[in-house]
Amino acid sequence: MSDIQYRELLPETRLGETADDSADQTPDPKLKTRLNKLQKRLRREMGRAIEDFNMIEEGDRVMVCLSGGKDSYTLLDILLNLQKSAPVSFELVAVNLDQKQPGFPEHILPEYLASVGVPFHIVERDTYSIVKSVVPEGKTTCGLCSRLRRGTLYGFADEIGANKIALGHHRDDILETFFLNMFYGGKLKSMPPKLVSDDGKNMVIRPLAYSREKDIAAYAGLKGFPIIPCNLCGSQENLQRQVIKEMLQGWDRSHPGRIETMFRSLQNVVPSHLADTGLFDFAGLQLGFPHGIVNGGAAGAQSGQGAIRRRVNGSTYCRSDGRDP
Ligand code: SF4
Repeated sequence: MSDIQYRELLPETRLGETADDSADQTPDPKLKTRLNKLQKRLRREMGRAIEDFNMIEEGDRVMVCLSGGKDSYTLLDILLNLQKSAPVSFELVAVNLDQKQPGFPEHILPEYLASVGVPFHIVERDTYSIVKSVVPEGKTTCGLCSRLRRGTLYGFADEIGANKIALGHHRDDILETFFLNMFYGGKLKSMPPKLVSDDGKNMVIRPLAYSREKDIAAYAGLKGFPIIPCNLCGSQENLQRQVIKEMLQGWDRSHPGRIETMFRSLQNVVPSHLADTGLFDFAGLQLGFPHGIVNGGAAGAQSGQGAIRRRVNGSTYCRSDGRDP
């Protein structure tokens, strides 16, 4: 079912806009109100992200990756919540990868998942030993650890017939990754809310893409999720990411609203006003056409890549006709 059908067929049951009952457990009225507000906001944002990117469709089997951190608990909690009122029927299966870190409390996730009544699997793979044997002492291990985790989980999704893999990355992760790639990689790219893996086999979705980390942290605290720290392995969080995170948090304090504006900019990209010749056919710009684009370049403006170039290099325009490009 497409995004348009979500909006047009069932406008009253848009994901994330119905009342909810699961926030009624907290006894303190102030905390209960705060929890209800947060839950409504997270539901609304997740519903919007799911619709905007057509993340979940009728009959999907969604594998929800659960690390034991605040983000993945919140992801599962809000997805379970939305599932009750969603205009489409879909399955959720929670999966945790036990990476055999020393001190990993193996009982916590199975107990939690059984208590919320979601089908789940605990996959065991000793990536800890692999990482320790490959990465030199003192170097950060998170890069290799994440790659091994991703590979294992993607493979497991195939085994259980899950056609979507939901990850708990949120808006702040997306912005941090954007700046990391710009500052250290010389690329304008981030973590997309939805993507197909490199081998074309897995569809990854990030339903928390519109949600703020501080809301997620507050929600996880109020819900009392049994958080398992990621750094049981003794590794430090990627220091470059930490620097970017602090930069963004500083901006959030000194310039309220800047984070929102920056995230909006990721959704308002203008290829003709950047400088990527692979994304926009600057060489083919011509006088006499709106914005210098032959035939309006509508297809290229929509798809962003290649379409303008193909159009310009086709019958409409040819440099050898003697006109200046
Ligand atoms: S902190 Fe440890 S477990 Fe977490 S991603 Fe890094 S290496 Fe892996």
